[in-house]
Amino acid sequence: LFDYKTGIDQSESRMTEILRPDLCVVGAGAGGVAAAYAAAVAGASVAVVEARQFDESSPRPELIMHVLVDLARTLAARRMESLLGPPREFSFDWATLRARVGDVSARIAFDSPARLAALNIDLIRGKARFTSAKRLETVEAVIEAKWFIVAPGAMPPLMPRIEGLEFVRALRLESLVELDARPDRVVLIGGSAHGLALAQALHRLGAQVHLCEAGTFLPDEDRELLVPVLNRLRRDGVVLHDETVIEHIEPDAVGFHVDARRRGGETLRIAASHLMVTAPPVPLTEGLGLTEARVRYDKAGIKVDAELRTTNPRIYAIGDVLGGVQSYANARFQAERVVAQIFEGKRRAVLPAPRLVFTDPQFAAIGLTEAAAQKTHRNIRILRAPYHDNVAAQIAGETEGHVKIVTDSYGRLLGAGMVTPHARELIGIFGLALGQRLHANDLNGFLAACPSFTETARAAALASPSQLGKALWGRIFPVPRRYY
Ligand SMILES: Cc1cc2nc3c(=O)[nH]c(=O)nc-3n(C[C@H](O)[C@H](O)[C@H](O)COP(=O)(O)OP(=O)(O)OC[C@H]3O[C@@H](n4cnc5c(N)ncnc54)[C@H](O)[C@@H]3O)c2cc1C
Repeated sequence: LFDYKTGIDQSESRMTEILRPDLCVVGAGAGGVAAAYAAAVAGASVAVVEARQFDESSPRPELIMHVLVDLARTLAARRMESLLGPPREFSFDWATLRARVGDVSARIAFDSPARLAALNIDLIRGKARFTSAKRLETVEAVIEAKWFIVAPGAMPPLMPRIEGLEFVRALRLESLVELDARPDRVVLIGGSAHGLALAQALHRLGAQVHLCEAGTFLPDEDRELLVPVLNRLRRDGVVLHDETVIEHIEPDAVGFHVDARRRGGETLRIAASHLMVTAPPVPLTEGLGLTEARVRYDKAGIKVDAELRTTNPRIYAIGDVLGGVQSYANARFQAERVVAQIFEGKRRAVLPAPRLVFTDPQFAAIGLTEAAAQKTHRNIRILRAPYHDNVAAQIAGETEGHVKIVTDSYGRLLGAGMVTPHARELIGIFGLALGQRLHANDLNGFLAACPSFTETARAAALASPSQLGKALWGRIFPVPRRYY
């Protein structure tokens, strides 16, 4: 905005508009858009500020990942030996991926400017920054809203300090899709959930993939469920290195090589053509003027109370900027909770968010793991059912994995997890059950289609020998309140 001919800074001379909506949302991502929609529907005037230049055809990184994973799964299924004949080779052109991402992105309308406009939501493009406890500014607007919801999300993690990293241009999902051809030899740094999914997908699309993690893969998840997924990736040919630190990167005639050291001191050298950091994103708290807004934050994210209110009572924060589980579902639900609280004075209960790994088979979990439940409850019960006992799974040849349920000693659900190609769909049943504080035996209260993968979720819940216990404790004698 600086005019070099006249020497005038246009941004300063421009008349700034002062907007006074009921609600101003910072960030038009998963949480921000959900908050804006909910508030607009409740009759509030809403402005959303978004820094990203976006339109209908600019894909979000998570969408790129999902299209990649889906294409890779389809390709792997077609190559598999089946009743219809021996395995077949399918050629895959990288441009197909780019076209598919563009196509899907253009069809997803949830954050489209047109949809926001249709709901009378004012979309302000530019980077938002608080300049006081009541005021937010962009280059073109000043906003003094009654309420603010801050949803700037998370940003890619800082590049690890690795000697020689400056000689390699690390890929991001957006640049991966822009490549002319499939990357040949990829090193992924960071064993996050999406690192695992990307590793398998890139391998299935024909790349050699090494995934390096300095610690353990997803250390907070149940090993019983996660290890079969890791083993499947290894069997497929993905090279997984846990407890491995990359020390040095050096360009060579055909790309570069990566020198790493395992925990025991063993060293390894990996030849690579591309590198990508897949460590979990970190909360984006810088550049928002949070100090000026009197909002407390640290490296782990913005600090909020149980109602998601920050230390400034007119400012709420939602989504990835809070740290914790990073998920669309979580960000959207938090948006609904905050809007219900501000505009309807309603308090909504907190619901657990599903945790997913989009590998094949998928891993999904919700609520407490067995290890976490052991720390908070004196007695717990574990229920399981395997997919090899499931007719639908046998017909589809997808018998790998099982369902695991954690309950307290009264059979009340504390958590659930599963490994199956359909885990992301099935985990919803347990989300509902946990949200409603149901007992495992309450899953007797619906009939699963037969044959279906849902049957195993129901079978696991009813694997309990506690029908009698439930009858005694849950029905005849109400479960003591302290267990709720
Ligand atoms: C590769 C990948 C795959 C994923 N897959 C899944 C999945 O399968 N399922 C799932 O549930 N979750 C997934 N996630 C996580 C999910 O994308 C996030 O948890 C979710 O988008 C968080 O929503 P949010 O509103 O907090 O932030 P975001 O959706 O990231 O939105 C934040 C917005 O704020 C804008 N912004 C930032 N700063 C400013 C500023 N100063 N002024 C104005 N605007 C600003 C940003 O440009 C951005 O558009 C994935 C994430 C990644 C990286």
